[in-house]
Amino acid sequence: MENMRFVPYRLPKGFRGMTVKSCESDGDYYTAIINEDLSEEATQRAVLHEIEHVSEDDFSSEYSVSDIEKKMKTR
Ligand SMILES: [Zn+2]
Repeated sequence: MENMRFVPYRLPKGFRGMTVKSCESDGDYYTAIINEDLSEEATQRAVLHEIEHVSEDDFSSEYSVSDIEKKMKTR
């Protein structure tokens, strides 16, 4: 995924990850913060989950975060 970076980070238990979009001088970037305490398998799932948000362009969505997460579970 171009313009996407992954940063392992200590996050609260149960919090798998989050992605923030930033507009930088050379374009838009997505930074996915992934909980560093996850197992290898859970990390893979969290990474794929955040990539899906970016590929679905959920950042431009008019839906709330909780609606977007509900939609993801049915995909
Ligand atoms: Zn999500």
